[in-house]
Amino acid sequence: MKSLLLNATLPKPAPLSTRFQQSIVPRRRSCFHLSRQFRSHSFFVPTVNPWIVVSPLGISAASEWKGVRSFQNEASLPESGEIHVILGPMFAGKTTTLLQRIKAESVSGRNVAIIKSEKDNRYGLDCIVTHDGERMPCWPLSNLSSFKQTIGSGAYDKLEVIGIDEAQFFKDLYQFCSEAADHDGKTVIVSGLDGDYLRRSFGSVLDIIPIADTVTKLTAQCEVCGDRAHFTLRKTEETKTELIAGADVYMPVCRKHFVSGQVLKEATRDIIEAQVCVHG
Ligand SMILES: [Zn+2]
Repeated sequence: MKSLLLNATLPKPAPLSTRFQQSIVPRRRSCFHLSRQFRSHSFFVPTVNPWIVVSPLGISAASEWKGVRSFQNEASLPESGEIHVILGPMFAGKTTTLLQRIKAESVSGRNVAIIKSEKDNRYGLDCIVTHDGERMPCWPLSNLSSFKQTIGSGAYDKLEVIGIDEAQFFKDLYQFCSEAADHDGKTVIVSGLDGDYLRRSFGSVLDIIPIADTVTKLTAQCEVCGDRAHFTLRKTEETKTELIAGADVYMPVCRKHFVSGQVLKEATRDIIEAQVCVHG
């Protein structure tokens, strides 16, 4: 009932493609429009409870208006931010997409910053480099909770857009994103692997989908057949989850070649182990 009533008072959401574009063009979506919708159906009653349900018919009829709530002091509410998630296998252009969106925000006058994991030092620590060679300065961190202290609270307050690359390496991703968007009014754009080399959930990336405004899953091109690749195949026998490397170790593959690649790796392992037994 609550969601039905709320939906009835709010404008219909834009199509997904439009919403994606909206996130590139800066906009100050605010509680103001929301509150105007609410005000058309409710009135304000001075009370210590900001969530009291009221109706034009009076307090006695409030129980019939469970879906419509009036905020006591909307000016004191934090400005609402946004969370956008970019997922996909390796070589799908996630970092390129992140940089494009951050640059678009910067060009339109918003204050931006990018964070990456200090574990990823393939191209140097203080910049992000795509597989295409494009680069942008960034903050290398071991955890996101140290970001505010690292850049200073004054600089953090001025920030409007925060990009996070290789998000699968941050254990405190959920807490950081929810605080930045829900309470600090930041637009957070997150890029990361959704699955590891065995297609298991990687880090906390999937945990933030319930709090995200948009989710974009990119695809690469299968190195074997050229079809769309949704998965990352590790070409070596290394079994630890976090193994930071490039095309020498990983390749994007379609479903069919992920399965056959795993079968081939297992067959190779069996042969090697058999040879070790014979010669050992
Ligand atoms: Zn394939």
